[in-house]
Amino acid sequence: MPETRTTDVLIAGQGAAAFAAALYTARYQIHGMIVGDRFGGETAIGGGIENYPGYPEIDGFDLMLKFREQVDKYEVPIVDAALTGVENKGDHFVSTLSDGTTVESGAVIFAIGRERRKLNLEHEEAWTGKGVSYCSTCDAPLYREKTAAVVGGGSAAVEGAILLGKYTTETYLIYRGDKFRRPEPVLVDLLEKSENVHVLFETEVTELVGDDTKGLTGIKLSKSYEGQDELTLDGVFIEIGADPRIEIPQSLGVELNHETNEIHVDRNMNTNVAGIFGAGDITDGSGSLKQTITAAAQGAISALAAYQYISEHGHRCDMHEKGFDLKADAAD
Ligand SMILES: Cc1cc2nc3c(=O)[nH]c(=O)nc-3n(C[C@H](O)[C@H](O)[C@H](O)COP(=O)(O)OP(=O)(O)OC[C@H]3O[C@@H](n4cnc5c(N)ncnc54)[C@H](O)[C@@H]3O)c2cc1C
Repeated sequence: MPETRTTDVLIAGQGAAAFAAALYTARYQIHGMIVGDRFGGETAIGGGIENYPGYPEIDGFDLMLKFREQVDKYEVPIVDAALTGVENKGDHFVSTLSDGTTVESGAVIFAIGRERRKLNLEHEEAWTGKGVSYCSTCDAPLYREKTAAVVGGGSAAVEGAILLGKYTTETYLIYRGDKFRRPEPVLVDLLEKSENVHVLFETEVTELVGDDTKGLTGIKLSKSYEGQDELTLDGVFIEIGADPRIEIPQSLGVELNHETNEIHVDRNMNTNVAGIFGAGDITDGSGSLKQTITAAAQGAISALAAYQYISEHGHRCDMHEKGFDLKADAAD
C-alpha cells in the first residue's frame, strides 16, 4: 500500500530556500516536511561561495550541509523524492511524490528552483556527461590540460570560462551577443586577464560533433573563427540560463510573472492561490538577483506566511480532528 503522510506545510525543494523555510516553520512550531530530489540545490554544485555573509569563502556543498545540520536539530522530516503533482482539495492539498508516497498538507511552499536551459541540438542529451556539461563549476577540474568551450554570455558563462581557463590549455567562450551586458564588470575584467580564454562574439554553436562511443569531440560554429568553422574540443559547457520549474504551480492556477515566467509572489511570498507560497529562484520575489542569500531570505518569509495561513485557517486542528498524528509523522 502506498504510504500517506501528513504535515502542516509541504516544502518542495532541497536548496537554500527550502532549508530556510524548514528552519523557520520549525521555529514557528508548525510541522514542515521537506521533499526534494537533490540535496543542496544549485548552491551545492555551484563551487566556491564568497558572497554569503558570515562565510568569506566556503564551498557551496559545505554551506548546504550547514543549512541541513541546523534544520536537523528540529527533526524536520526530509524526503529524498521529487514532487510529481499537487491537488488543491479546498481545505488542504494532496501531493504525490516520485517514491509513491502521498502527502496531505495544509499549505505548500514551492522552492524548486530552475531547470538549466538546453541548446536543443542533436546528441546533446546522449552526450551529457560525455563531453557535454551544464555546470562548469562542477566539472572544470576534469578538463585539466584539455580544450573546452563555454556557451553563453551571462555571469555563469563568464565565471565558467574563467574557471576553465585555470585548468585547460585553451578555453573558448562562445556568445551570440556582440558584447557582455549581464555579468558583473569585475568578472569581465577577470575574463580579459585570462590569457588562454578566447571570446567569440556573435557566434552560435550549430552542431555537436562526435560519436556515441567517444562522446563529444568538437562543435561547429555559425561564424568561422581563425579560418575554421569547427573547433576540436574535449568538452562543451552550456551555460545559457535556466527556466523556473512552473509546471506543478501552474497546474494549481498559480499566477506567473508575464515577463520572467517566474511564480509571482507578493512581499510575503504569497501566490494568488490561498495556501500556496513560493520561495527562491522559482519566484520573482528578488527581482533579477538570484542568489543563495535571497533564496534563504525568501524561504524564511514564506514560512512566516505559511504559519499565519495555517494559524488562521486552522487546518492543523482539522487534521488532528481527522486523526492525523502530526507529532509522530514529524519525528520520522
Ligand atoms: C554555477 C552557479 C554558481 C552560483 N554561484 C553563486 C554564488 O557564488 N553565490 C550565490 O549566492 N549564489 C550563487 N548561485 C545562485 C544560487 O545557487 C541560487 O540562487 C540558489 O541555489 C537558489 O536556491 P533555491 O533554493 O531557490 O533553488 P535551488 O538551489 O535550485 O534548489 C531547488 C531544489 O528543488 C529541487 N527540485 C526540483 N524539482 C523538484 C521537484 N519536482 N520536486 C522536489 N524537488 C525538486 C532541486 O533538486 C533542488 O534541491 C550560483 C548558481 C549557479 C548555477
